[in-house]
Amino acid sequence: MERDKINNLIKSGIFGLVVADALGVPYEFKSREYCEANPMTDMIGYGSYNQEPGTWSDDSSMALATLDGLTNSFEFDFDEGVYISNFSQIINYEDIMEKFASWLFEGEYTPYGEVFDHGATTFKGIANYKFENCEPILSGAKGERDNGNGSLMRILPIAYFIFFLSLKYSFSKYDMMEAIHNLSSLTHRHKRSQMACGIYVIIGIELLRNCFEENDEKLSLEEVVNNGISLAKEYYFDNEYFKHQFSHFDRVFSLKIQDLPRDEIQSGGYVISTLEASIWCLLNNDSYKETALAAVNLGKDTDTTACVVGGLAGIYYGYENIPTHWLEQIAKYDYINELIENFSNSLFEIIDENN
Ligand SMILES: [Mg+2]
Repeated sequence: MERDKINNLIKSGIFGLVVADALGVPYEFKSREYCEANPMTDMIGYGSYNQEPGTWSDDSSMALATLDGLTNSFEFDFDEGVYISNFSQIINYEDIMEKFASWLFEGEYTPYGEVFDHGATTFKGIANYKFENCEPILSGAKGERDNGNGSLMRILPIAYFIFFLSLKYSFSKYDMMEAIHNLSSLTHRHKRSQMACGIYVIIGIELLRNCFEENDEKLSLEEVVNNGISLAKEYYFDNEYFKHQFSHFDRVFSLKIQDLPRDEIQSGGYVISTLEASIWCLLNNDSYKETALAAVNLGKDTDTTACVVGGLAGIYYGYENIPTHWLEQIAKYDYINELIENFSNSLFEIIDENN
């Protein structure tokens, strides 16, 4: 497998989410009515947080901190053969949590060294870890009201981690899902948040897999997304632990979310709304640009809806299809690129067949 192709795929998804997040920042909390009257058509600045164009928010910060933490997880001793008996154990959750804390309290992983937004549940999780000596995967709050989109918005990097390691190693589906659920649990430990992350990451993995199909074997966007959703449905169906959450995902599992009229798609901070809205935007648009703008123009939690769908759209349409003049405006572009390079270099060393 070529190093350049891996690197490019990681750039596609990570810049896909960062650019869309930045696009949404000036419109955060705007009502749908406002967006209908003044639709966003290009990257602008200022607005809700009075930030310059290209300023990305907590969503990207936490996704980048996750990417960086997963880079360190490649230090795991992979010498145990082709089968990894406990996949979830590879991930250094403590390191990722430390990185979250350095973001929240020290302004690491931010465009200008300061945190201008963070979610309440995210704050609780990081504080539990940092000040209450909680174990990382037990730090996230798990109340009904802790089902905001704060873990969904930062979870995408694990799709890369799982997909690429699966090319060289085998591990059980249970282990793979456990890793995703644990990563959500650092801040969001409710089963519904874990499950939303599970569904989203499986869609991401299926999109990555499709990128490696021969041209005549490639599936349509709708087929790939629906495959991902069906695989997730199969996993969660009859799963005793997640049983009581299943009905919350009925609209997603119906595979008909894209057919719903726009006014039935919510775009607030609830994790189910964000998952539904991102699938809806992805399947009702034909380019990265249109998809990201459609997400912002739903209003409310614009940066997060856009960020969540932006990562998937980035993978599907590719880095080359993210508008250049948007990429050029992204704050600390080189820094983000460096984090991506570090991740892909470490990954390549592990999966390279000559190693
Ligand atoms: Mg944000």
